[in-house]
Amino acid sequence: MTSATLASENLLEIRNLKKYFGKGSHPVRAVDDVSFDIRKGETLGLVGESGSGKSTIGRLLTRLVDPTGGAMSYQAQGSDAPPQDLAQLSQSQFRPLRSKVQIIFQDPYASLNPRMRIREVLAEALDTHGLAKGAARKPRIEQLLQQVGLRPEHAERFPHEFSGGQRQRIGIARALAVEPQFIVADEPLSALDVSIQAQVVNLLGELKEQLGLTLLFISHDLDVVEYLCDRVVVLYLGRVMEIAPTQALYASPQHPYTRALLAAAPIPDPAQRRVVPLLQGDLPSPANPPSGCVFRTRCPLAEERCASADMQLREVQPGHWHACWRNDL
Ligand code: ADP
Ligand code: MG
Repeated sequence: MTSATLASENLLEIRNLKKYFGKGSHPVRAVDDVSFDIRKGETLGLVGESGSGKSTIGRLLTRLVDPTGGAMSYQAQGSDAPPQDLAQLSQSQFRPLRSKVQIIFQDPYASLNPRMRIREVLAEALDTHGLAKGAARKPRIEQLLQQVGLRPEHAERFPHEFSGGQRQRIGIARALAVEPQFIVADEPLSALDVSIQAQVVNLLGELKEQLGLTLLFISHDLDVVEYLCDRVVVLYLGRVMEIAPTQALYASPQHPYTRALLAAAPIPDPAQRRVVPLLQGDLPSPANPPSGCVFRTRCPLAEERCASADMQLREVQPGHWHACWRNDL
């Protein structure tokens, strides 16, 4: 079943999304009952520790993995067609949408065929969706390279002839080639030198504005998320802990997990760099999550009732939601 309509500002509405890996009585609950909206034209940050399910959400939205349950309603921009639930589409039904919904990975080198020239990499993406054929091909490839800050002559080079930052630009050009509306960027900076990261962040921000893209920016770098994103979703053990406009989240985090994450972020001043160990202990196994609030086993404020509490997101300020029963933080 597809939802009747989406709120007009939303490109995607994700409801009760689940992805369990493995069968049997204790599957890995990588994503467990996750709901949030992605607004048209926004950059939405998705943060959380390693293993919290960020990449799995990115892969679900681009249907690289199939969901166990839930809905991902997508309203194509500039179309009067009814919304489509991406979760309900078969792989062949999803194929026409594949160009609209693209993903950029952490390590573009791993996804670039070392024997293909960049021209061929981009041509392959264009061919998949029947775009820029014949005489239109060469100028389109030059335009794509230029859009990501590369030069026309780079088209004839092979992936190994580029630096890490340039390879990430090629990954971005390949995603842009098919004229997407929505891009998932999964830790696109993690493999890059710090000196290069800012350039790629700025490129993503510029392209988003120029092309009217919507971006889901997955990162564990809270400084970059604060700089780039309009709103942020905080994930822990496959569940949403908090959703807020970026400014509100950083100025007044409501959930103890968000507070711990922000407090644990390295302070940018190298002279004062320190990591406050607020997050103690290991992430519990997502195959056997704690009852009640999944964060309670590491929460400095946990009480008995957290073990049985039904953790639902509550809106405490317009657009600011969190999943802790406390109001006094
Ligand atoms: P993140 O991107 O936040 O680090 P992931 O989405 O990669 O988290 O992983 C979430 C959880 O799902 C982890 O416990 C991970 O081990 C598990 N997981 C991810 N992919 C698979 C898979 N293909 N098979 C089994 N478990 C997986
Ligand atoms: Mg990941």
